[in-house]
This record gives sequence, C-alpha cells and structure tokens, in this order.
Amino acid sequence: MKHNQWIRVALDVPLAGPFDYRVPESLQAIKGQRVLVPFGRRELVGIVLETIESPSYPEDQVKDILMVFDDLSPLPQDWLDFGLFAASYYHRPVGEVLLPAMPSALRKPGSYTGKLSKGGPVARLDRRKKTAIALAPPEDNTHVLNEEQQEAVDAVLAIKGFKTVLLHGVTGSGKTEVYLHLALDVLTKGKQVLFLVPEINLTPQFEQALLARFQQVVGLDGIAVLHSGLAEGERLKAWVAIQRGQARIVLGTRMAIFAPLQQAGLIIVDEEHDASYKQQEGLRYSARDLAIWRAHQLDIPVVLGSATPSLESWQHANVGRYLKLTLAKRAKTTYMPAIKLVDTKQIKLEQGFAPVVLHAIRERLERGEQSLVFLNRRGYAPVIHCASCGWMSQCPRCSVYTVLHRMPGHGNVLQCHHCGYYGRVPVKCPDCGNQDLEMLGRGTQRVEEYLQAAFPQACVERIDADSTRLKGSARKLFDRVHSGEIDILVGTQMVAKGHDFRKLGLVCVLNADAMLFSSDFRAPEKLFAQLAQVSGRAGRHVAGGEVLIQTAYPEQAVYQALIRHDYDTFANASLEERKITHLPPFSHQVLISAQAKTVNQAMQFLLETRQLLASQPQLSGFQAAINMYDPVPLRIVRVAHVERAQLLVESASRPVLQAFLGHWLPLVQEIGKRHRIRYFTEVDPLEI
Ligand SMILES: [Zn+2]
Ligand SMILES: [Zn+2]
Repeated sequence: MKHNQWIRVALDVPLAGPFDYRVPESLQAIKGQRVLVPFGRRELVGIVLETIESPSYPEDQVKDILMVFDDLSPLPQDWLDFGLFAASYYHRPVGEVLLPAMPSALRKPGSYTGKLSKGGPVARLDRRKKTAIALAPPEDNTHVLNEEQQEAVDAVLAIKGFKTVLLHGVTGSGKTEVYLHLALDVLTKGKQVLFLVPEINLTPQFEQALLARFQQVVGLDGIAVLHSGLAEGERLKAWVAIQRGQARIVLGTRMAIFAPLQQAGLIIVDEEHDASYKQQEGLRYSARDLAIWRAHQLDIPVVLGSATPSLESWQHANVGRYLKLTLAKRAKTTYMPAIKLVDTKQIKLEQGFAPVVLHAIRERLERGEQSLVFLNRRGYAPVIHCASCGWMSQCPRCSVYTVLHRMPGHGNVLQCHHCGYYGRVPVKCPDCGNQDLEMLGRGTQRVEEYLQAAFPQACVERIDADSTRLKGSARKLFDRVHSGEIDILVGTQMVAKGHDFRKLGLVCVLNADAMLFSSDFRAPEKLFAQLAQVSGRAGRHVAGGEVLIQTAYPEQAVYQALIRHDYDTFANASLEERKITHLPPFSHQVLISAQAKTVNQAMQFLLETRQLLASQPQLSGFQAAINMYDPVPLRIVRVAHVERAQLLVESASRPVLQAFLGHWLPLVQEIGKRHRIRYFTEVDPLEI
C-alpha cells in the first residue's frame, strides 16, 4: 500500500488550480508541509493542502514533487482551514492567501535550512529592552485598574469560548491596561495572545509595554513581532518562534492575523475601526474581520477596542451580537480635553492659522507644554499655479496635481503622490511664460517652516511620511517627542494614533474641512474617528488639555458631536441614515475595479459584466436580491497612464452575495480575458 502518493498543493500563482502532484516513493509528504515542485519551467515552494485519492487530471500529466522541507513541523490544520476560508470569502486562489502570509525565506527554494543566524529579533529585543527601561514611566508600574477597567476585565474573563467583545473606551481611558490584564490571565493559563495594532509605528510602544510587564512570565523570546517593516531575517525568526509554539505573545500589524498560532487563548484588535486593517492590494482582506472568524474557529474571545468603533461593529453591539463594554472615563486625568471650533469664515488667517490658535500655541510654550499641529497634507504646497492664464502643476501621468516638496539638498521638486512622478519646478509658466508662479495652499513642510519662524525659541519638528522615510527615523522622532525635547510637533495622521505624549496640552487641527464633502459615504465616520483620535492626544497626563479645530462649517453634525465628545449620538444618527439609504452595515458590497488604457475600455468591460445578471440563465435567480449600480469612472480617473472605473454590487444578504459571486466571478474572468483587461475584486470595500 502506498500512502501520500497524490497530493494537492497550494502555489502562489495567479491561476485557480488545483495543482496536483505525485510524491515519489523515496519521499513522504504530509498535510501542512512545504514542498518544492516543478511548475512550468520554474521550481516553486508550495504547501500540501491534502492527500488525494487520485489527481484531477490524467496521471501521466502529473509531475513529481522534488523535495519535502522538514525544517519545521507541518502547518496546523486550523491554519490551513483559516487560509481556505479567507480564499473562499475573498474569492482568491488559496495559494495567494497562504504563501504570501509566510516570510519569503520559507517560500524560496532551499533558503531556509532550519537554522537561524544570530541577529534577528533577539538582538533587536535586547536593544528594545534597554529603551524600555529608560522610558518606562514610574507611576505606570502600579497597574491598578479603576472600577470601569476592572469590570471590563472581569466581563471578558467570564467568557467561555468564542465571543466578540467591543471595548468602547474614550481616548486615554486605559484600554491598553485592560488588554495587559487580559493577556496576563491568558498567559498564566499557558495560552497564546495575538495582539493586532494598526500601525508599525505603534508596535515599539506596545512591545515596550508587553516586555516591561511580561518578560518575566514569557521570557525574552516569548514575544514575536510581525509587521512589514521587519528585515527578512527578523520576520523569519518571529514566524519560526510562533510556529514552534515558543512565542507566547504575537504582536503585529494586519499581516499577523495569518500567524500560525499553536495555542491561542485570546485575540485583541486595537483601534478596530482603523483603515490600516484593510489590505489594499493582492488579497484585499480585512484583518479585523478575519480576526473574528479566527476567534470563532478557535473558540476563543476576540476583543475589538476603539474610542470610535466602526459603524459595522457599533451596529453588531447595538443588536447584541457583540458584547459592548464601555470605558467612559479617562484613567490618568479627570477630564477630557476641551474641544473648541474656530470659525474661520469671518477672520483673516495668518499663513493658515487663526490668531487665537497662534496665541494658544504661545501660551503652551510659555508653560513648557507641547503642542501638536495636525494637517493631513504633506509636502510644501499642494499645487503651483499661474494667475495670469490659470495653468496648474499637473502630473503628466495622472489626473491629479503635483505637490511642491522641499527636498533638503535638492531644492524644490514637484511630486505626484499617486504615481511617484518627480519633476522640476518650472521657472516660468509652461503655457504663457509668466514668471510669477504662485503656490496654492500649504502642506506640513510649509507649516513647519512658518512655525519655526514664528516661534524661533521653540523646537519644531515634523512627522509625516517624508520625514520618516528612513528606517528607524520615525521611532527616533517619536522618542524625542516623548522625552519632551520637541515643543511643537507638526504632523499628519501618523501622529494621531495611539501615542501617549505625556506633555502634550494643545492640539490644533488646520484643514479638517477637506474631508467634509467627500463623495465617500464613510467620510463623516472617518473624519469623526480621525479628529477624536488626534484630539485624544491632548491632556492625557496634564490637566487643561485643549483642542482647536479650524473650520468654516462649525454647524456640521460631525463637529457638533465632537465638541460634546458624543460618539454614541453621532454613531446612532449615522446608522439611521445608513439604514434608510441601504448602505453598510445594512447591506453588503463588492467592488470590481477595472484598469485600462482608456476609461471607455474599462467602462465597456464593466458594462458587459453587469449585463450578465440579466442575460445569464444561471444568474436569473439572483436578480431580486442583487443590486448592481452603473459602472462609474473613479474620481481620480487616471493614475500612471492607466484609467480606472468601478462597478459596485450590493445585497442585503451576505450569503446571497457570496453565492452570487461564486457563479458570477468566473464569467467576469472570461470577459476579462477576452478584453485583456486588468481588474480586481474587493469584498467589503472600505473606499468607494
Ligand atoms: Zn500661465
Ligand atoms: Zn502621477
């Protein structure tokens, strides 16, 4: 009797499969192992999904596998099942889910031999440990919970098996302390904890908190960190520690949801509303949503924490599907920061600042407190412009304006934020020759420059994607903010999330209105979340925290809810609107985005796919339950010479939508092949 003679393998190729292989008698391959297989002219590493009775195509066409990797124990069944679920839900080949989840060293023929070179996370954690001790705030070592926190911890610990918990805690209410108490309980029971955080920049802060608290419980090797900013060796080492069950705490960004946990006891998703949990390329998954499925699969609790939960989660909590726990009070200070609206309609701004805002910054400086100036627009000026003929700096490859950037050592350049195009700044108007080109608007660079000039005695720094491009530079900048060295911090959304700046008293928001009139139905929800987040940086440890939001529309509901710190009313009113307009969470959506040389080609393809619903007999049963919108060009129609359009599909029922996709997408694929068009499918899209 021969066993394991035929196997089905997951491969990271853009083909549906299945890929069946023969195991030669000299080898043995079992489910969950990595194998090396011939594929066309290449050799690829795949994962054994199952052993099969017979291959799905003629035996003489089935090739032999070349090698079995036994450097790691096989990936567990639940991990394979998790990948299969994600593949079916997002309608992608399973190999595109499973293999990219692993470090590349495990996907390359012959590069991992079961030995790890010194220098991976251990050395890195050693460095972190020293920093952690240096930064550990002394009064934090008491770890005493207030009443609300204790009730939240008790409620989660009382859960047996699977339950989704929505921990709604105002900014500064000490959600982290709740997480840490829960984690300790799980660790002492010998189980693993998976912590998801939205930003790479937040992992050091969590890592420090976890190390300070748990190093003696789990040891230095007991914490594995997974995010895309890791060096390959670091990622491999973390993965191996998880797969071997040595890592007891797994901390990471969205990719960590695919960690091959061995004995998970709890999953925590911090800032669950954050858009970073959504992968925007390849497999377009939501790590938050997958975390709930994973917890259900493993029969363990999952805690979703946020000050401004997504309306999806809020609705689930409202109807009792999630357990809602509330932290309404701040842990370290008595008060929430006072949020005030500065009406900019009637006043003259000085370089984008209302006089009252500049005055407030000056006062904080004199009191030795920090101020944060929040502006979600990087670069120096968003566009340059000719006043005599109306010329604007436009990207030659995209339908957007290029942004003026000051590059230290390189002078000024025009940069496209969509395709990465760089161009010189013209000395005169390319259309009319006018030499007086003007800058319109301001970005973080220009604001930083102005504040340096206005407050020469202050230390002004900027944190955005440009100032933190070099590896480790973000961390250094944040350390300088934490140490109190920086007086005025100018930043984009990078500074809004999670950071616990101890000396920060004032937050000023400059261009909030930019998001008010977006066509995206989630824009008010995102604006509320973003402003609540950035406001929450003020006065976490000092009394008298204040937030000044410059706006020309102070009467807008989102601002009125913000100044009252009233997320509940805002969320419930928004949900009422969504219900009336049949938008998520009251419907479920799928987006098909097509890319072509011309927008007409993209539209033509989408129109054809849309017509299938009425013309194909096998889809007729879905007509009543599926709503397809008209295809539309994207707001930014052209990026890097490619024009884009999209088609939105909607249903009140998730199972019906999934069943429809199962029938419809293969037909879409055929049309796509015929049109030779690039398109992607996004289930539960976040941006429309
Ligand atoms: Zn001109
Ligand atoms: Zn461009």
